[in-house]
Amino acid sequence: MAFEGLTQRLQDTMAKLRRKPKVTEADLKETMRDIRLALLEADVNFKVVKDFVKQVRTRAAGADVLKGLNPAQQIVKIVNEELTKMMGEEAVALNKSDKIPTIIMMAGLQGAGKTTTAGKLALKLKNEQNARPMFIAADIYRPAAIDQLEQVAQSIEVPVFQLGTDVDPVEIVRQGLQQARDQHNDYVIIDTAGRLQIDEKLMDELVQIKTLASPDEILLVVDAMTGQNAVETAEGFNEKLDITGVVLTKLDGDTRGGAALSIRAVTGKPIKFVGQGEKMDDLDVFHPDRMASRILG
Ligand code: GDP
Repeated sequence: MAFEGLTQRLQDTMAKLRRKPKVTEADLKETMRDIRLALLEADVNFKVVKDFVKQVRTRAAGADVLKGLNPAQQIVKIVNEELTKMMGEEAVALNKSDKIPTIIMMAGLQGAGKTTTAGKLALKLKNEQNARPMFIAADIYRPAAIDQLEQVAQSIEVPVFQLGTDVDPVEIVRQGLQQARDQHNDYVIIDTAGRLQIDEKLMDELVQIKTLASPDEILLVVDAMTGQNAVETAEGFNEKLDITGVVLTKLDGDTRGGAALSIRAVTGKPIKFVGQGEKMDDLDVFHPDRMASRILG
């Protein structure tokens, strides 16, 4: 289960505090240290942890929690609120264009879950908005990528525009968008190429696709299991592409959770969805407040 270690640590910290007949300044200090360590161990970005602890400490001092009736409870409340804030406060909806089609560009490293997430998103749009999405297969480098997208698309009955692997991806996108306009699809989801790591050539290509397509949404798909690397990936892609949102995948796995807690603070971009399984309906809107409560257990 994701966050298991962090949840346990935070619960232990709070339990320790609750057991005290009277909470002193020293107890508070120890609590802050425990929270700091718990977050660092969960792989939360160092700077994010520092800001977080400072904020909690300032608020605890400001509210005079030691003089209050139930200091432990008050601290849990502050931690919960600050965790929520750290993750972006409110759920952020998918961007939608005034005129069809809304263009969504998927980006991310190979294996992050880009193609799977493209499928999940298309299904969500179909189910919730009765939408008629279309995919554009713009990953021409991995031979199996187009097949995989075709398979996903078939399972949810969404059409794919593809020109095989011999045409330039930017040209594929150009023709795909034309077809979507001709056929009045209301959403176009562009599946782009991923690499094992960020490289110049990949970024150039993505920038060219962005320039041509002017997407309403550039969703970066990152694997929560990769911890700090997920955060670095998000920073790297955001710098070049100015992404509009993040999808954090594999949150059903055994992740320590650092990525979920750091990405918003580090990139300034919202996590819009989380992937919680391999099935097509395993995609959920990201709610920072619910996630904070889940973490606190
Ligand atoms: P891409 O290379 O970025 O297109 O990645 P894929 O879509 O091919 O996904 C890579 C692997 O991760 C596949 O085996 C997916 O089934 C799996 N995957 C994607 N999202 C999730 C998720 O949210 N949870 C789990 N457990 N597996 C996922």
